[in-house]
Amino acid sequence: MTHPLHPETICVQAGWTPGKGEPRVLPIYQSTTFKYDTSEQMAKLFDLEEQGFFYTRLQNPTNEAVASKIAQLEGGVAAILTSSGQAAVLFSIINLCEAGDHFISTSAIYGGTFNLMSVTLKKLGIEVTFVDQDAPREDIIKAFRPNTKLLFGETLSNPSLNVLDIAKMADIAHSQGVPLIVDNTFATPINCRPFDFGADIVVHSTTKYMDGHAMAVGGAIVDSGRFDWEAHSSQFPGLTQPDPSYHGLAYTKKFGKMAYITKATAQLMRDLGAIPSPMNSFLLNIGLETLHLRMPRHCENAQKVAEFLEKHPDVAWINYPGLPSNPHYELAQKQFKNGQSCGVVTFGIKGGRDRSIKFIDSLKLAAIVTHVADSRTCVLHPASHTHRQLTDEQLLEAGVKPDLIRFSVGTEAAEDIIADLQQAFAQI
Ligand SMILES: *Cc1c(COP(=O)(O)O)cnc(C)c1O
Repeated sequence: MTHPLHPETICVQAGWTPGKGEPRVLPIYQSTTFKYDTSEQMAKLFDLEEQGFFYTRLQNPTNEAVASKIAQLEGGVAAILTSSGQAAVLFSIINLCEAGDHFISTSAIYGGTFNLMSVTLKKLGIEVTFVDQDAPREDIIKAFRPNTKLLFGETLSNPSLNVLDIAKMADIAHSQGVPLIVDNTFATPINCRPFDFGADIVVHSTTKYMDGHAMAVGGAIVDSGRFDWEAHSSQFPGLTQPDPSYHGLAYTKKFGKMAYITKATAQLMRDLGAIPSPMNSFLLNIGLETLHLRMPRHCENAQKVAEFLEKHPDVAWINYPGLPSNPHYELAQKQFKNGQSCGVVTFGIKGGRDRSIKFIDSLKLAAIVTHVADSRTCVLHPASHTHRQLTDEQLLEAGVKPDLIRFSVGTEAAEDIIADLQQAFAQI
């Protein structure tokens, strides 16, 4: 086919193209290892001389097929699947940073990512500076240092739902000679493709909408193939200089546009091993086959829920980028397909934290779960749950008010979801 396929077709068909007499459905290659005829054939794989499967920690056909589908959805050149979103974020950073390096992230990010950056990476000698993504360009540029290796942000922050101005951030990163990494978990490539706005690398927690059914924890990293590592060779020696663990091979010289993902596979996956099981990738693929159908439905339902909440007298505040009163409304209209962001709505109840908790406990259809972004409507109080480890100051920095309720609107009938909210309001 000559024209690029539409996202709907990629969701349904991409990644696995069976030949004559092969299974129509992506098979689960539940095998740790792959057979060769000669010792020489296998040696070439170990030297990265030839491409092929030899051990599932490095590559597996089921995992590869699903990674390829996600790469195509994002419009990237290559992708790697990881065992979780956390592993994807970690790998995306340490593929570029080592002890003594520095990077910059927006402060409105997922709580787990915030801990990873501010505690665990710090212990490994990698330092982060958090910036306000809505700050003027000059203020963000002030955070850059000679050893800064990347800029990181979330398309739609979890749970504060700030919309990242990707074009602005990409421009800032590129003016300083570093790539922009965007966590696109909440928008998904159905609603936004960060590469179209200048991002260089995209990460996902596939656990959320991509899986969509709360079945399998997973992650993905996608490379646009556009960042010119060679042009900033001294900044990224891990990619441009010889790797002693592969007989002095240099990734950019040997693999060109595939350098970043090849290094993540051949070096990080080899040494750290955070691979998904082929079974989980199979489940993720089933989720991806309906992503294009589910996302618009999540967004239509969330819009109705947000409009209902905005009018309700017991609601102190509401945040949903699809509401014209939202400070990020214009940006959301510009950056997201049909202006649709995601199915998550956040709000606070009048009377503060305690009344918010009573409200959550009164919901029946919406279940309290440590999860977000699946077909079943669910709810969480981040200050008591996911963001429990953060101080009040860090909570506010991450855009999480103590009374914030994260309401993840599912694909049920909007009328039933709203009726559930109504009966819970009646009880407080
Ligand atoms: C959930 C989430 C993560 C972490 O992903 P896991 O699959 O839970 O490890 C990272 N980023 C965002 C935006 C998330 O929502």
